[in-house]
Amino acid sequence: MRQLNQTGYMHNRLRMIVASFLVKDLHVDWRWGERYFADKLIDYDQAANIGGWQWSAGVGTDAQPWFRIFNPVTQSENFDPDGKFIRRYLPELAAVPDKFIHAPWMHAANLADYPPPIVDHARARAITLDLFRRAVEPPEPGA
Ligand SMILES: Cc1cc2nc3c(=O)[nH]c(=O)nc-3n(C[C@H](O)[C@H](O)[C@H](O)COP(=O)(O)OP(=O)(O)OC[C@H]3O[C@@H](n4cnc5c(N)ncnc54)[C@H](O)[C@@H]3O)c2cc1C
Repeated sequence: MRQLNQTGYMHNRLRMIVASFLVKDLHVDWRWGERYFADKLIDYDQAANIGGWQWSAGVGTDAQPWFRIFNPVTQSENFDPDGKFIRRYLPELAAVPDKFIHAPWMHAANLADYPPPIVDHARARAITLDLFRRAVEPPEPGA
């Protein structure tokens, strides 16, 4: 989000990850995120932005499957293996060893003022899957 706030740009991979995080981890209505991107993106386009948010939220016409939920840590490990991007936009993590760069809270002892995670991803993911399942799967007869 710092990249978006500082530059007005964010790579597509990150747009998908933050959109998934807002909707499927924090359970916030995708339209709040869409509006925020509309204010910040230098390449804002209504059709592409709404399409991108609905795809990520699992609610659009050809959305990604509702049960697909990005894990922010594994995405970070896969697409920023050396933590170069993290250290660029989070200079306060510059000295964190590579081993902890994708989960700095595991190195909390040495990170006095770095905030702990705001959500337990595994727990939030389970809640989201349950919410979607109840929405898309008809209840058992007599349930
Ligand atoms: C949540 C979310 C919101 C998005 N909001 C916007 C938006 O407001 N405006 C916007 O142009 N794109 C949006 N996209 C699509 C995509 O992220 C951007 O087009 C792309 O990241 C722009 O960077 P680039 O020019 O380096 O893209 P490149 O990968 O170099 O692609 C070149 C051009 O192709 C088009 N393009 C590429 N990917 C997509 C895509 N998935 N959907 C539509 N067009 C694409 C764009 O015009 C882009 O400029 C969004 C995607 C998501 C997941």
